[in-house]
Amino acid sequence: MTASLSTVPAPVAITSPLTIRMHDRDNVAIVANDGGLPAGTVLANGLTLRDRVPQGHKVALVDVVAQAPVLRYGIPIGFALQDIPAGSWVHERLLQMPSARGLDNLPMPGDGVTVQPDPLPALEGYTFEGYRNADGSVGTRNILAITQTVQCVAGVTDFAVQRIKAELLPLYPHVDDVVALAHGYGCGVAIDAPGAEIPIRTLRNISLNPNFGGEVMVVSLGCEKLQPERLLPPGSFPIHAEGSKIDSISSASGQDLDVVCLQDDAHVGFMAMVDAVLRQATVHLERLNARSRVTCPASELVVGVQCGGSDAFSGVTANPAVGFCTDLLVRAGASVMFSETTEVRDGIAQLTARASTPEVAQAMVREMAWYDTYLERGKVDRSANTTPGNKKGGLSNIVEKAMGSIVKSGSAAITGVISPGEKLKQKGLTYAATPASDFICGTLQLAAGMNLHVFTTGRGTPYGLAQVPVIKVATRSDLARRWHDLMDVNAGTIADGTASIEQVGWELFHLMLEVASGRKKTWAEHWKLHNALVLFNPAPVT
Ligand code: CA
Repeated sequence: MTASLSTVPAPVAITSPLTIRMHDRDNVAIVANDGGLPAGTVLANGLTLRDRVPQGHKVALVDVVAQAPVLRYGIPIGFALQDIPAGSWVHERLLQMPSARGLDNLPMPGDGVTVQPDPLPALEGYTFEGYRNADGSVGTRNILAITQTVQCVAGVTDFAVQRIKAELLPLYPHVDDVVALAHGYGCGVAIDAPGAEIPIRTLRNISLNPNFGGEVMVVSLGCEKLQPERLLPPGSFPIHAEGSKIDSISSASGQDLDVVCLQDDAHVGFMAMVDAVLRQATVHLERLNARSRVTCPASELVVGVQCGGSDAFSGVTANPAVGFCTDLLVRAGASVMFSETTEVRDGIAQLTARASTPEVAQAMVREMAWYDTYLERGKVDRSANTTPGNKKGGLSNIVEKAMGSIVKSGSAAITGVISPGEKLKQKGLTYAATPASDFICGTLQLAAGMNLHVFTTGRGTPYGLAQVPVIKVATRSDLARRWHDLMDVNAGTIADGTASIEQVGWELFHLMLEVASGRKKTWAEHWKLHNALVLFNPAPVT
């Protein structure tokens, strides 16, 4: 695959004080300048700063009296704990966080009050070059994935994968990579407990991700709780009529799942196990290598959007640009998932109002209620989400973070909801319920069938996945400048005033088609930055 790297445009120096206010009602704005602004700075509106205000942090535009709401995005992100004079730095210690909205009496489609979003006009004529699979799905990469039933086999599989890369992959030039699907699950777990179906179906559905071409091969230990036939029951995976089955369990159980079981008597010594994995891999590599890219409509993209290492610019630059791009994708008939339950929980009323049907709205409420209960079990709530880096970046609390996070979902009607680990059922905009944890969210979006990932960051994270290309979008030009060989798109140009949300949204859309086609590599692909699969397991371990 010949590929060029995406580039981040050169930043423009800003010398005059620059603040950003998101909504007419807001009584605070954030400071956009790199390095923040010193006390005494006179803003464009004539206001003089009483304190030094760091970049991304809030300044009071008017006097805010104690107990009064501090408004950003037009909604209260907190209540003043003391009088805050105009020009002051409004930091988290001055704010009382509002409590979460209850899940009753939400706006619902068809309630006679809620106005549903107008359908977006169709966007036609955009295509990419992808790998069409037998089940109709489309891959953006052509990867051999090796499924594992249990963590015990991870070392052996990794050893085999290194040999496959060195000895076999050069013989199969149309195969992009070989990836071991290592994870921490499979044994030492209460496998029948409520919630255990989540990690199990996550692993099953990741094995079937469109980027793996329907080639399922499994390495099993033998004595683990998660037996191969429980992970991939008959009928849950594609069967290939041709080609020999190596170490197949078909003779014993009538199934056609390709399994190398390390505890099999046939394996005498470590190298026998490794050779068995290589023999089996060869069968799949031959079939994968025979595939080639074909022109596919943009509607075959399955995009997961998420953010990590957020700052106050996330909701001003990168996430709105991603939201604009989400609308473009929905207009093109593609599938887009937004997730991160604790980061959208405070916007539940916005989301139910955007649902296409009452059933979709109720499904969102059901997922949020489940997560509320899950958090209560740990004696926390959604406020446990925010990190020291979020706060340093200007986000006072989860309400402010959520309002900036939710805009990644754009403006289209929400037409689907899936639970953690489930496979996506339809095109359009879907709320895929997942934790906000970057690795867990990415893992669950992989299980849903994502073939392209978009990730926004303000503080900066080198996040990447081995299974799909990850396009990273910087919220600030300062980050894009420092991390010039890690960030694929600079949305900081929006805060600098040199690009619009629409321009960056279109730039991202065009880059997605290039990356999906394999014509461009993301920086994470270039450097092979691969974060681990991290399963969401709400059930007990033993
Ligand atoms: Ca995240």
